[in-house]
Amino acid sequence: MNKKYLSKTMAALMLCTSFASFANADKPTVKIYATGGTIAGSSESNMDTTDYKAGKIGVDLLISAVPELKDFAHVIGEQIANTDSNNINQNILLKLSKAINLQLADAKTSGVVVTHGTDTLEETAFFLDLTVKSDKPVVIVGAMRPATAISADGGMNLLEAVRLASDDDAKHRGAMVVLNDRIGSAFYTTKTNSTMLDTFKATEQGYLGAFLSGEPHFYYEPTKPVDKPYFDISHVKQLPKVKILYSYQDQDPALLHAAIKDGAKGIVIAGTGNGSLSDVMLEAVKETMDKGIPVVRSTRTGNGFVTPKQEGIGSGVYNPQKAKVLLSLALAHGDNLKTIRNYFEN
Ligand code: ASP
Repeated sequence: MNKKYLSKTMAALMLCTSFASFANADKPTVKIYATGGTIAGSSESNMDTTDYKAGKIGVDLLISAVPELKDFAHVIGEQIANTDSNNINQNILLKLSKAINLQLADAKTSGVVVTHGTDTLEETAFFLDLTVKSDKPVVIVGAMRPATAISADGGMNLLEAVRLASDDDAKHRGAMVVLNDRIGSAFYTTKTNSTMLDTFKATEQGYLGAFLSGEPHFYYEPTKPVDKPYFDISHVKQLPKVKILYSYQDQDPALLHAAIKDGAKGIVIAGTGNGSLSDVMLEAVKETMDKGIPVVRSTRTGNGFVTPKQEGIGSGVYNPQKAKVLLSLALAHGDNLKTIRNYFEN
């Protein structure tokens, strides 16, 4: 418990507020959309890195706490939400994606940054990767330590994200995830560790680049993931319900049936190994597919490919949470089972 530290931190943040509105028209414009998370988190103790409250600090304070941002960009902030990322829902996702598409159409904007809780950051990053039609950088950034912690990582992460979003070399690479001095592809990157700073990884595909003293460096020429689909969500008001089920020994289909009864239009199963399932589950998957409801079989292993399947659809490179995002977008797009299978299995 360290109330003195907290008030000192807040006072320092308040003193810097003037920088937030610092117009810097000769620099590239970067818009920051704040949604909450640990990067905007606060605790009464500067040693607390697990029991703090996420989504406490507003976008103006986030920006003014890093006055160096103005050396690289003309930064504008907008508060889209201020919550733990476990509360991010489809309304927020649709609003965010639509706002970003509009913002990036503005010639003066070089890129956008989304500040986000790390727990579901990869889902938002993947959603934006599939729904933003622009070659400009979309950078999703979070922090593993709240703003009030000793050695908080949010300030540097935000600076690096803004530098990336204002960098011409960051174009034509799809959405990117920034944490821990690394640049990851939003398409492949996932959270791999519950509490450690070096949690965001794409174990098979690696990083796109890294930051040296805050400056982005890429390992490759601009490139995008193979067969990355794009979905126009400009007219989408609601995404169809897709549920994720988890596999284990002796699993029965009760929850699969319950999900369908509850109105699920698609199912993702975090299967064992290569998307494997028990015989009773395979039978239930077949029946569900026969009713025209897609069942995508991903893996609970946390890594790897799931190959094409006879019962259900193999998820390919997509982990369960990414498969759910892709499946709900395909359903919103009105795609049939054959087209949906192609997104995952081709
Ligand atoms: N529970 C927090 C969130 O996702 C964790 C974080 O941001 O690191 O909002």
